[in-house]
Amino acid sequence: MTTETINTSTPVEGAEQPIVRIQDLHKSFGGTEVLKGIDLDVHRGEVVVVLGPSGSGKSTMLRCINRLEEPTSGHIWFEDVEITNPKTNLNKVREHVGMVFQSFNLFPHLTAKENVMLAQRKVLKRSKEEAAKVAEEQLARVGLADRMDHHPSELSGGQQQRVAIARALAMDPHVMLFDEATSALDPELVRGVLDVMKELARGGMTMIVVTHEMGFARDVADRVVFMEGGVIVEEGAPDQVFGNPKSERTRAFIGDIS
Ligand code: ADP
Ligand code: MG
Repeated sequence: MTTETINTSTPVEGAEQPIVRIQDLHKSFGGTEVLKGIDLDVHRGEVVVVLGPSGSGKSTMLRCINRLEEPTSGHIWFEDVEITNPKTNLNKVREHVGMVFQSFNLFPHLTAKENVMLAQRKVLKRSKEEAAKVAEEQLARVGLADRMDHHPSELSGGQQQRVAIARALAMDPHVMLFDEATSALDPELVRGVLDVMKELARGGMTMIVVTHEMGFARDVADRVVFMEGGVIVEEGAPDQVFGNPKSERTRAFIGDIS
């Protein structure tokens, strides 16, 4: 692979192969092109925060990574597997890509622990004992050791979102994708979820995080990507993007929101 056409703006020491590589990604819905050529490399252990106004294509880009959306053209690799190759076994790939959405989508009739056990049992075929052990570990990790046997209706939105994070972590993901994970939460519940995400980042998890939380972006991101109108307008270290944005659009967006 040559580097001329690929965005490798953040080479990591040792030039390890990126864990996610997006190359010239286009996506149209009907006649409307919403992704207009996205190039992005994410390296192992890196935290990339994606900012941008509503409708700029952030969710669509994330969803293309595990092919919840079918790209119109372009290529995406996850580790050494080309996701955009029709022959790729997507279920295998998806096992290693954790995704956390704005809505938690927990099963209301199952406890927190049972929610975290379910995909481990069904997808990874773990034994009941193993799945329960992992569920307990991951729920403790997100600060819910004392809420494992509660049903979602007995948990706050922030706690439910942390269950959803534990559920994703229980699958041993190689990368975690967060799509506005805190946007649906009451303001007082946002902090707890961001703290869990921060802790994950510190632990070396590779993360792509779509968020409007500028404080999180500044503190936690290795790299900030600003999207608008289906293209990456600007990317760089948080200090650079926040402190000295190259593009007028980025400057205006950051000024509006922070
Ligand atoms: P963001 O996450 O940045 O707010 P999205 O990726 O959700 O942006 O959406 C980008 C554009 O694509 C928007 O104009 C949105 O209306 C459109 N879009 C997203 N999903 C669909 C869909 N399934 N069908 C048609 N249009 C869609
Ligand atoms: Mg979105």
